[in-house]
Amino acid sequence: MKYYRDVDYFLYFEDFPHMGVPGVTALNSDGTVNIFINTLYNETVQARTVRHELRHMAYNHFSADWMSITEKEVEADNEDDPNCIFAEDFAWVEYTVEERLSPFFASLIPREDVIDEIERIYKSQGILHMSFDIPNSPYISKTEAQRIYKDAQTACNIVMSDYITRHRKTARVPKTPGGKRKII
Ligand SMILES: [Zn+2]
Repeated sequence: MKYYRDVDYFLYFEDFPHMGVPGVTALNSDGTVNIFINTLYNETVQARTVRHELRHMAYNHFSADWMSITEKEVEADNEDDPNCIFAEDFAWVEYTVEERLSPFFASLIPREDVIDEIERIYKSQGILHMSFDIPNSPYISKTEAQRIYKDAQTACNIVMSDYITRHRKTARVPKTPGGKRKII
C-alpha cells in the first residue's frame, strides 16, 4: 500500500510550546492523517519522527485494535524494515507487504463455502433440500457460520424426528433387550 503526501497525509513542521513531544499524529474524519512535527528538535530527530509516524499509518496501526500500544510503538520505531520505503522529502511512503488483515477478517468464510457445508449437513441426514436464511454478505464470520451449521443440524433433527413420529405407526414396534414390548 502506498500513501502520498498532501493526498493521504499532511506534514506540518512547527515549534511546539516545549520539547518532550517530537511529533503528533491526528486522524481526520475523511481518513487522511495530519502529522505535526516539533521543530524544537534537530532535523535528524524530525526526520526520524516523520518516519515513525508514517510507519504507524503504513502498518495500519490506527485501525489495528488487536495490537497493544507497545507492539505498535516497537514496529513504528523499526528503522530496519526493508518493506517500508520512504520517498525523498516524504513525498510518499510504501509498505510493500500485502495489507495485513485483522484476525476478524482472517476468520471470515466465503458465503459459498457456508452454503456447501449446510448442504453437506442436511444431505448426510437424508434430506434432499433445505431452504436457509444466510446473511447476504460475500463473507461470513466463523462464529456466525458455526451458529448457522448448528441451526441447520437442529432443523435436520426436528425434521427427522417428525418424520420418524409420522412413520412410527407403520414401523415395527421395537423390543426391549429383555424381550418385552416397549411402550412408545
Ligand atoms: Zn508512535
